[in-house]
Amino acid sequence: MTLRQLQLQTSWGNLRLVGGSRAGESTVILLPQLHLGLDPGRAHRAAPPMRTMVLSHGHMDHMGGLGYWASQRYLNSMPPATLIVPEPIVGDVRSLLELSARLEGGQPYRVTVVPVSEGDHHQLRRDMDLRFFATDHWVPTLGTQVIWHKHRLRPELAHLSEPEIAERRRAGDEVTLDVRNDILTYCADSGPGLLDARPDVFDAEVVLVECSFFRPADRDRAARYGHTHLADLLPQLKNLKCRHLVLLHASRRHRLREVEAIIDEEVRPHFAGELHHLNVDWD
Ligand SMILES: [Zn+2]
Ligand SMILES: [Zn+2]
Repeated sequence: MTLRQLQLQTSWGNLRLVGGSRAGESTVILLPQLHLGLDPGRAHRAAPPMRTMVLSHGHMDHMGGLGYWASQRYLNSMPPATLIVPEPIVGDVRSLLELSARLEGGQPYRVTVVPVSEGDHHQLRRDMDLRFFATDHWVPTLGTQVIWHKHRLRPELAHLSEPEIAERRRAGDEVTLDVRNDILTYCADSGPGLLDARPDVFDAEVVLVECSFFRPADRDRAARYGHTHLADLLPQLKNLKCRHLVLLHASRRHRLREVEAIIDEEVRPHFAGELHHLNVDWD
């Protein structure tokens, strides 16, 4: 299956997102420019180059490609990688990777497993960090915010020349301001409680949110398993400030074409920004 490729214009620049999703089958989201993966839901050759992988929760449709990602990095002599995991499942995930490596007959994978909890952050690179928030799912699940810190010259120093600014910097003065830009939020699996509990995470420029169910008869099922139904999302659309809304995790109760038609008819007219599909039909 070819993954979907999205080009998302953000204040950081043109962000390339590669991925695919279906409830119960697989969700894979890759940001190749940042070498960052958000859920290794299935083995795919595009995943191993991701140096940092975030696992949102322990459901197999989000972690089915974990062993493949770690194994391929090892077999191809790629540099050590980081796997970020919700704290309650860190022991089991470490054991799983150790077992996989042992079954393969090789050395332990070169993956550092980092436990995180709600409110924690992880430095992705000098100018970006990841922050984690609890979602409204029925097992411990963390969503991820990708935050870009843009360093701008302090306005009161704008009249100085380059050498004068360099001199101030050498003297230990703080010459720049840290301007926080929330580039992307991945809400992982979540019921609609997240929209009420953490409206701030929906203010990012790109928001990836699940919309698993569409039929009125599936409303109870969505609530029971901590998933979002179309009827939960619709009243919130007018409040969303994001520039790009990426919908994913559609149930297999609908054909892909049906899902796309429902989204285009019911969601698109009520959302002011750009709407994108990440649902796919896996082989
Ligand atoms: Zn799922
Ligand atoms: Zn789940």
